[in-house]
Amino acid sequence: MKQIKGLINQTEFTKADIIKMLSVSGDDEKLLFAKAKEIKEQEIGKKVYYRGLVEFSNVCEKNCLYCGIRKDNSKVERFNLSDEAIIEAAKFAHKSKYGSFVMQSGEIMSPAFTDRIEKLLKTIKAETNGELGITISLGEQTEETYQRWFNAGAHRYLLRIESSTPELYYKIHPNNEKHTFDARINCLKTLQNIGYQTGTGVMIGLPYQTLEHLANDILFMKDFDIDMCGMGPFIEHPDTPLGKHGQELLSLDQRFKLSLRMVATLRIVMRDINIAAATALQAIDPIGREKAVKVGANIIMPNITPGMYRNNYKLYDNKPCIDEEPQDCVQCLDVRIRLADASIGYGEWGDSKHYARRVSANT
Ligand code: SAM
Ligand code: SF4
Repeated sequence: MKQIKGLINQTEFTKADIIKMLSVSGDDEKLLFAKAKEIKEQEIGKKVYYRGLVEFSNVCEKNCLYCGIRKDNSKVERFNLSDEAIIEAAKFAHKSKYGSFVMQSGEIMSPAFTDRIEKLLKTIKAETNGELGITISLGEQTEETYQRWFNAGAHRYLLRIESSTPELYYKIHPNNEKHTFDARINCLKTLQNIGYQTGTGVMIGLPYQTLEHLANDILFMKDFDIDMCGMGPFIEHPDTPLGKHGQELLSLDQRFKLSLRMVATLRIVMRDINIAAATALQAIDPIGREKAVKVGANIIMPNITPGMYRNNYKLYDNKPCIDEEPQDCVQCLDVRIRLADASIGYGEWGDSKHYARRVSANT
């Protein structure tokens, strides 16, 4: 059996190596975390970059079994921010020197939605003098739509694979043509081919999920050569089919700790990608995201959705900060990031170093 000390200094990793890294505790876990921090600082520095996140609509055409805003959850009050409110939020991010802006929503595939986002992207670019980086996370779309949004100014896309193991994917999604594993893979490939900085990720602590699944997820991200990752704990929502699986799950504390080990392990395996500290970490531990920054994450997405709408974008229980207005979060985050031995790249896009290297290697 390999010792963790030697393992974390390798540059190639087998599935067994990764499972070992995900299983450590005590002093071995400290070694894992320290190595991840060291690699992050060596490869990409101590800076954390902000992406101001606007969750602008909870209207969704899909029915992912884990998600609180799934189409069939009739208890949710649906909302859709006006274009003006979204543009205001982008200006707020720009003024606050967040560097980048993320637009996320439920998944809608329609010509009207494509047009709307295209127009918004162009307006936001113009209104912020092209200085605000834009990430979008709007689910599965056609190649033409992805291309139009790229041309309009979005340069990063987040689409989690959720699980890279098809059997598990189909346990957490309905098995129908609106939710196919192959479509998700094809979307990720299309995004990469168009030229987006491409991000994916998974939920950690899902029902039926094993350490082997998670190790496969890390190997999938490596093989796919992703530029960014956003992954965090699964948190059950009572009004969803997977919210009724209480007893089969790891405790929230175990899911939290496993998520930190996933972040640290991914940092060791993919040294120069951007890794986001997921908001779901903060739903379990008030300083969860800062803890992730200490073990390898370098991106934080402060929620700047206007306060009155946040309560309706509940993917899971206990979503943090839903009572606060955007401004409330700025100062408290700043202090907390500094406490996590990091500084903030104000006004910088904080693009993935991996993307720059990947693109120059392919030209
Ligand atoms: N609709 C788009 C999509 O699915 O890619 C973007 C929004 S969706 C709400 C963003 C992410 O939320 C999903 O990729 C999923 O991983 C995460 N999510 C949904 N329900 C969750 C839950 N119960 N616990 C943790 N994360 C969850
Ligand atoms: Fe819709 Fe995204 Fe939730 Fe799935 S995860 S139900 S696509 S918002």
